[in-house]
This record gives sequence, C-alpha cells and structure tokens, in this order.
Amino acid sequence: MTAPARYLRTVNVPLDQLREFPGNAKRGDIPLILDSLRHNGQYRGIVAREITDDPLLTVLAGNHTTKALALHGPGDCGAPVKVRGKERPCGICGNDPAWELTARAEVVECDDETARKINLVDNKSSEKGSYDRDDLAELLSYMDGDLGGTGYTDADVQLLIAPPPSLEELADTYGDPAADDFWPVLKFRVSPEVRDAFYGLTINCTDTNDDNVRFRYLLDRARNAPDHAA
Ligand SMILES: [Zn+2]
Repeated sequence: MTAPARYLRTVNVPLDQLREFPGNAKRGDIPLILDSLRHNGQYRGIVAREITDDPLLTVLAGNHTTKALALHGPGDCGAPVKVRGKERPCGICGNDPAWELTARAEVVECDDETARKINLVDNKSSEKGSYDRDDLAELLSYMDGDLGGTGYTDADVQLLIAPPPSLEELADTYGDPAADDFWPVLKFRVSPEVRDAFYGLTINCTDTNDDNVRFRYLLDRARNAPDHAA
C-alpha cells in the first residue's frame, strides 16, 4: 500500500545536504532558472524527501532550481540585477558576502513509489498544457520590453505580436497559388561569358525580360538544330 506524501516542514537547507533525485530525467534550462532566481528570488520552495537515518534530503521537485543555486554559488555574486534601467540587489544573495548557499525546501516524507511519481509529474506538468496567446501577449506587454527574469526573449515577443501569416492569410494577400508555383526551379552559377552567350543567343525570343521565355527559346533552337534531327 502506498500513501500520499506527508508535509513535514519548510526549511532553508544548505545545498550540500541535498541530493539530486537519482535518475531525474528532465534536462532543464539552468541559466534561465538562474536568471529568474536573480530577478524574482526563490518564490517557490523545492520539494525534498526526508528518509529515516539518511543525512541527506532527496530533491523530488526543483532539481534544476537547486542546480541554478549551485551555479550562483555562496556569497555575493557581485552582479546586481537591472530592472527598467535601475540596479537592485540580486534576488538570491542580496549581494551580501555572508549569504550561505541554501535552498528553501518543503520537506515531505513518502514511499519510493510516490517519490518517483512526484518527480515524474512535476517535470511533466510543466510541459503539458498550452497558452492563450492574447493573455500571454497582454501579460508580456506590462514588461515594457524589460524581459529579464521572465524567461521570454525579444524574439519570442515579436513572434507573439506578429506571428507568421497563416496559409489563408497568404492566400488573401497574394491570391491562391498558381499551378506553376510548384514547378521545379533551375538555379546555377555561370561565368559572365556564358551569361552573355545566353542573352546573345536568345535576343530574338518573344519576351527578353523573362529568362524562362529565353530558356525555352534556346531549347526550341536546340531541338530544331540540324544536328539534332540526326
Ligand atoms: Zn547573487
């Protein structure tokens, strides 16, 4: 019989007392999480499992937050955060040389099966689901272009505001595709001499502004050439 996890306490845990979940399958974006932590602070506790007689806590959820904190390291990182052109202290260390390398953790106890399920579902739930583009665009618009700590880039916002046109919109703008839109395209580099010969030999075609017409004219001439009939 397995049971749900039981909450024990919330504590600041030195990183060297935490163990990464063995076999954690998720490969998170650690620099992005570090950027968020520096901007926003650790707004959410990691979830760590306490096992009787085990001196270390095992991180069930928040393995990449823990790694991002490790990447930051102890003490003052020496890098304030710039928000709307103004500097403010780092959300992790507060630019305090005495800051100790800790993570705020919700400590739970549970059995092995529930531990694996929590690790799996916590990773999975963050990738499942979708976005309402309008709601997302509105939220991002409040940032006034200062996207630090949001996980979004200028390019992401551009795509959201001006997404690539749909096929229907392309058809409205350019008309329905013509049959020859899907014809093969011949493309090759030639020397200036060959180009001049091409234009010279096709000077009498019906439309000298159209290389396609010139090319077909050249083919007709080749077909009708005396040595071709042989
Ligand atoms: Zn810092």
